[in-house]
Amino acid sequence: MATMSSVSGNLDDVRARIVRACDAAGRPVQAVTLLAVSKTAAADALRAAAAAGQTAFGENHVQEGLGKIAALADLRRSLQWHLIGPLQSNKTRAVAEAFDWVHSLDRLKTAQRLSQQRPAGLPPLQVCLQVNISGEASKSGLAPEQVLPLALAVAGLPGLRLRGLMAVPEPTADPLAQRAPHRALRALLERLNASGLGLDTLSMGMSADLEAAISEGSTLLRVGTAIFGARAASQG
Ligand SMILES: *Cc1c(COP(=O)(O)O)cnc(C)c1O
Repeated sequence: MATMSSVSGNLDDVRARIVRACDAAGRPVQAVTLLAVSKTAAADALRAAAAAGQTAFGENHVQEGLGKIAALADLRRSLQWHLIGPLQSNKTRAVAEAFDWVHSLDRLKTAQRLSQQRPAGLPPLQVCLQVNISGEASKSGLAPEQVLPLALAVAGLPGLRLRGLMAVPEPTADPLAQRAPHRALRALLERLNASGLGLDTLSMGMSADLEAAISEGSTLLRVGTAIFGARAASQG
């Protein structure tokens, strides 16, 4: 469990890692957005992160995310909330009404529901398609060959704005091996753009592999443990 002061110190450390990795990759640091993955963290820890200048938060359970959004309702206007975990179709309305981004879209039916349910008074819901880039049997996400047809369909839906692709590669400690799935995701995004889509977001890179992700073009890092401390094993 992270203490409040360690959250701001951890954020400084993560920001320094991002600066070093951007320098090494010859990329401007503004090209990379840090999403603080706050699943299992208490609302006070999120408040400490917000006080330290963090504005984008990622949750992977709908219900827990809604609870955090409510707990930090006074800061709603300055924060962005990203759903990064699986989305069942009976939860789409709450997500369409409360979140700013969904990273984990992998079915047309879910996209259609989000499109219909996004309130007219809100900006479009920003969405990424999740790709099972390492081809793991247990992982959610689209097979690479399924991505283009779904991307073309989602890009035409009102109330949604398709921004790019998201992946959770199979973990490996080898920095060189970490780069391969990130490179594959970027190549897939480039193929979509060559097909006429104007996508600008690669949601990839976590606590253990953010340097590899930045070197392969990540624009949106999803970092939990390095900011909020280790989670209980069962809570993923
Ligand atoms: C938990 C989670 C993360 C953050 O992982 P860390 O290793 O704690 O940085 C990123 N993306 C998704 C989809 C997650 O569920």
